[in-house]
Amino acid sequence: MYIGVPTEIKNHEYRVGLTPDSVRELTGHGHQLLVQSGAGSAIGFSDEAYREAGARLVSREQVFSDSELVVKVKEPQAEERRLLRPGQTLFTYLHLAPDPAQTRDLLASGATCVAYETVTDAQGRLPLLAPMSEVAGRMAIQAGAGCLEKARGGRGVLLGGVPGVPAGRVVILGGGVVGSNALAMAVGLGAQVMVLDKSLDVLRRLDAQYGNRIETRYATATAVEAALLQADLVIGAVLVPGAAAPKLISADLIQRMPAGSVLVDVAIDQGGCAQTSKPTTHAEPTYVVDEVVHYCVANMPGGVARTATQALNNATLPFVQALAEKGVARALREDAHLANGLNVSHGALCNAEVGAALDLPV
Ligand code: NAD
Repeated sequence: MYIGVPTEIKNHEYRVGLTPDSVRELTGHGHQLLVQSGAGSAIGFSDEAYREAGARLVSREQVFSDSELVVKVKEPQAEERRLLRPGQTLFTYLHLAPDPAQTRDLLASGATCVAYETVTDAQGRLPLLAPMSEVAGRMAIQAGAGCLEKARGGRGVLLGGVPGVPAGRVVILGGGVVGSNALAMAVGLGAQVMVLDKSLDVLRRLDAQYGNRIETRYATATAVEAALLQADLVIGAVLVPGAAAPKLISADLIQRMPAGSVLVDVAIDQGGCAQTSKPTTHAEPTYVVDEVVHYCVANMPGGVARTATQALNNATLPFVQALAEKGVARALREDAHLANGLNVSHGALCNAEVGAALDLPV
């Protein structure tokens, strides 16, 4: 199969659809790889590395005109959507529900569009979203630890403490993929950590793994309030699938938190779990409300684009291989979980949630 990898053109997007390692796996099975010149250069994947892996380096126009399967990271921008055509398959994050313009263009393109974010696994989880949650969760502690420094507006607390001085207190709201990865990093740094969740199964799993090393609490409003009034660093990691993030932190509670404490609201991409949260960017990641530093970057993995690309590729490569080896129609027919990724096919919408969100027939 002819497989294409364009350079991402969304603002400040440095990730790339396939790494040279992934390309080598595919060329090794006889596939033709067309990689746009410079596609990975921002994160250290040189044209030379792609060439050595067996790819042909071409222009964006050639990637789109000559590929049967286009593998990307972000949703296609207007300029890319114009290049899609019938008979072509696009495999990438789409997030169509809030994006009528993109949906309209994809329907008009005649291309088959498989979205990473709706591919499922046997446990009903979302295996192509999980790697980005792992990255964001781990990064949340790194970002939060930096914000606790005085020069960044923080209260001047070292998360690990030192002998004779208590460690910083980290409170993690939500113990799912983001929360458990943040937890691993916070424990690794030597912080005192409390995790709050509404799911007893989640709390049991974390308790079994960490024992007395951490504290767990059922996330009532009282427990959240008590935890936040003692916190140096709060990680917002809650998710109610398909809904806006629950607002667990009121503006009043923010006002009563310790001066210089830090909130890293990872759930900001779903609206954030604090009333005071609003999306920020890597260029200007923080702002201060009532002396609480807010870090609310909506695309945290973009800040560590090399790691994020490798993590994403580990999860997407088996699906790319299946699409390439079996052909798109058979791969979708034989794998119901991959088929759940199908959002647009032959000018028709195939995802019920997207249809409901945009009031379009499915
Ligand atoms: P997840 O489903 O694995 O975990 C969410 C957890 O929140 C679950 O354990 C659930 O029980 C818990 N929860 C739900 N409602 C709660 C409540 N009221 N009180 C306490 N706990 C509650 O989800 P995840 O993959 O960890 O993602 C968490 C959030 O991070 C999502 O909004 C996701 O979109 C976001 N995210 C953001 C970025 C970013 O760059 N900002 C990157 C990746 C993920």
